[in-house]
Amino acid sequence: MRDFKMYIDGRPTEGALSMDVINPATWQIIAQCPRADATQLCAAVAAAKRAFPGWSRTDIEERCRLISKIVDALESRQSEFARLLTAEQGKPLDQAAGEIAGAIATARGLLTLRMQTKTVLKDNETEKVIEHRTPLGVVAAITPWNFPLVLLIQKVVPALMTGNTVVAKPAATTPPTSLLFGEICNEYLPAGVLNMITDANDLGSMLTSHPDIAKIAFTGSTATGKKVMESAASSIKRFTLELGGNDAAIVLDDVDVPEAARNIFDAAMINAGQLCVAAKRVYVHESQYDEMCHELATLADATIVDNGMKQGTQLGPIQNRAQYEKVKALIEDARSKGKIIAGGEFGDGPGFFIRPTIVRDIDDDARLVWEEQFGPVLPVMSYRSIDEVIQRANDT
Ligand code: ADP
Repeated sequence: MRDFKMYIDGRPTEGALSMDVINPATWQIIAQCPRADATQLCAAVAAAKRAFPGWSRTDIEERCRLISKIVDALESRQSEFARLLTAEQGKPLDQAAGEIAGAIATARGLLTLRMQTKTVLKDNETEKVIEHRTPLGVVAAITPWNFPLVLLIQKVVPALMTGNTVVAKPAATTPPTSLLFGEICNEYLPAGVLNMITDANDLGSMLTSHPDIAKIAFTGSTATGKKVMESAASSIKRFTLELGGNDAAIVLDDVDVPEAARNIFDAAMINAGQLCVAAKRVYVHESQYDEMCHELATLADATIVDNGMKQGTQLGPIQNRAQYEKVKALIEDARSKGKIIAGGEFGDGPGFFIRPTIVRDIDDDARLVWEEQFGPVLPVMSYRSIDEVIQRANDT
């Protein structure tokens, strides 16, 4: 079994404790990962603070050159990362490869950007105002378990490019790819510039409320985002939050139904529905409702749900047990509020598998409609007029 280390002040570091990471498709332990305690968290922040003066004074071209090397190293180990991502997260291997490729492309795109260092806000005979953009200090990068690597890179690369130092913390159920990325970063960066710590979902609030954190970059659930905002408020920290969403898809009455069904299905089932911008509920005009429900159910029944390592798998498991139980409860609730026309079954494991589930004739006040489900379950409602459906989509 592979041994992963945290990185604090440039050094590979064992956790004060350790924790098992399981493969959500098999329930087998795939890695033992370090688990930081409060002292290690403080050590990581202190290291990032010490590294800040040197890194922030380093020329941006040099910073970008070092980050480019990290991206090159990631690219040369793409297939290793993709396999590890499938093992920790569950998504099919081709989609994991897509996430890694996306992370690399994102990083390369970001590396072409340069902050405008001077913007003249006022320039007249008596006044001249120039805006300088300066690094903030230590950035906390907190990431979730649905897209562990691309969301990490989206935070770390801009923070480092612009001269900040980082303490990154992945979600408790998906640390391996992040720890491997931390290892690569520390081959190229000065000590303390990128610190990577892992927890059992117990150190987030300590990190966000730490007085030496200047900015929080967070992706996660809306509920946790509110807590992050609260703790940022207590010390007036800057923050960027990327949270959930209960996105509605409205299908107008002149579509080609099979084609629209395919697009809607893919938009809903991407990453087993575990994506903030996935389609979470769909409204279909009453004239095409039966046909659309039938098409969606046919697509659901034909989907190959299996371990993401197996060739041909189209949809992997739910990433973790807590989420699995949550999605199952929403389906159970929907059983009495609507009609399940595909899926709706779950086995006893191993693996957190839920077949793509389509629910029709469901009330707007069912939890599955108004609560973000974050799983492969799609409620399909019918509507009569555009005004009515826009109202319903916005009200929910
Ligand atoms: P989910 O509820 O979907 O499992 P979360 O939004 O709780 O996901 O988790 C996203 C990230 O936020 C994870 O890295 C998690 O450890 C971290 N986290 C959890 N609670 C807090 C908190 N109170 N403050 C800051 N980060 C937190």
